[in-house]
Amino acid sequence: MRKILLIIIDGLGDEPIPFLSNKTPLEAAKTPNLDFLARNGICGLVLPWLEKGKLPTSEDTHLALFGFDPKKENPGRGVLEVLGIGMEILPGNVCLRGNFATVNENGIIIDRRAGRIENTESLISALNKIKVRGAKILVKKAFGHRIGIILKGKNLSEKVGSNDPKKVGVKVLKILPKEKRAKKTEKILNEFLEKARSVLENHSQNKKRILEGKLPANYILLRGAGKLKKIKSFKEKYGLRASCIAGGALYKGIGKILGMDLIKAEGANGFSNTNLKGKILAAKKSLRKYDFIFLHIKAADSLAEDGNFLGKKEFIEKIDKNLKPILKIKDTLIIVSGDHSTCSLLKSHCKIPIPILIYSNGARLSFEKQKLAGFSERNCKKGKLGKIKQIDLMKKILEYA
Ligand code: ZN
Repeated sequence: MRKILLIIIDGLGDEPIPFLSNKTPLEAAKTPNLDFLARNGICGLVLPWLEKGKLPTSEDTHLALFGFDPKKENPGRGVLEVLGIGMEILPGNVCLRGNFATVNENGIIIDRRAGRIENTESLISALNKIKVRGAKILVKKAFGHRIGIILKGKNLSEKVGSNDPKKVGVKVLKILPKEKRAKKTEKILNEFLEKARSVLENHSQNKKRILEGKLPANYILLRGAGKLKKIKSFKEKYGLRASCIAGGALYKGIGKILGMDLIKAEGANGFSNTNLKGKILAAKKSLRKYDFIFLHIKAADSLAEDGNFLGKKEFIEKIDKNLKPILKIKDTLIIVSGDHSTCSLLKSHCKIPIPILIYSNGARLSFEKQKLAGFSERNCKKGKLGKIKQIDLMKKILEYA
């Protein structure tokens, strides 16, 4: 059996864009290395896992592409993010993710990210001193203005809503229980939020920020409550030793919940200035020890969500340039795809199928040579792999491996 290197370019697929001569960012990008892999491998389209009436989410689509049923096995974004920033969760704990935000004296949201505050360490240490009856509350810094929160205590429920109305100029919401037994948790969270507001309002760092004309980080927006779920590890499911190389917390969390070893790549941060070279080299090195490498590259998605199709195209070109070191790896199946498509003109995730290529260097594979011009949505539609449901992708990959 070959080793497997799965490269997920988040939000890879897109629609044709008039400004790019009606090409998608992937089509418009100069990608000699991806084109080489596509021409000498096999291509197709992946149909993303979709919940009825909703756009695909990164967590559901990742679980699906690893062959896990998102409906049963997604523990909630809070759990995944909290795991991804390295917090330890025990069964029964309730996890949420949050932001520092700015509200005015009437609780109206001025900025959902508190001016994208970065140095939140002393604010967080103050939050960790807050005592609430019924639970111990742990807060940890995540990237930038973000935080992870764990509630530890008896009879806690993850069935609580969010206080984030997801827009500015409106009042923060009260956290509400989604079921009767969540009342206790709802009370704990709302009490914590009240106390946090007072602690933050009076914090010297925020007083200083106001004097400097910056927005104070005087409120916390919480969402994505979840509890740890017992799900099979990747190793238990497939018998493969797996590692995960990712910059973003969510993707590290997905790797972790599936029991993958997290491999650190210096400068991997989930942004367009991420250390792509370092990540690719870490993946190559990781192949010595592991059977399956999950390499996640985030920024294509974020750029498309900002409507920056040119940036997405350029970022794909940058990924392509850095693929050189892996083109000649032997006895390894290289797969390049996305978790879902992100449509730059819509500035959001979208339902269109995701291009995929599967390649193996010097292999005795019975790949029928495809006469494809390169790696793109349109070309992959003609690929010999055809259309695959995301949840069936792992089976296909294992067949080829
Ligand atoms: Zn995604």
